[in-house]
Amino acid sequence: MSIRNPQALRAKISKNVGIDPTDEGCIEWIGGGFSALSWNDETHSVPEWAWTLKHGELPAEGQTIHHKCGNSRCCNVDHLELVESEEAAVI
Ligand SMILES: [Zn+2]
Repeated sequence: MSIRNPQALRAKISKNVGIDPTDEGCIEWIGGGFSALSWNDETHSVPEWAWTLKHGELPAEGQTIHHKCGNSRCCNVDHLELVESEEAAVI
């Protein structure tokens, strides 16, 4: 899947994030609907969209995004990694 108008999506995300006060470098989503951001008639979580903007495609079926920093509101792609869904359940 390719994102239509990725610049506008990036701008929308940028407008709704704040830098975490900790030293982790987290970029926290401060807008509403963190886990349900609609774009191009599709709804995904903000980290999924952030991931997609960087990598060009959504996580594959059976994969999910794990926050390495442990901050579930973080959408800094450097803090995200893809894991198998079953693996995510135990992390
Ligand atoms: Zn983070």
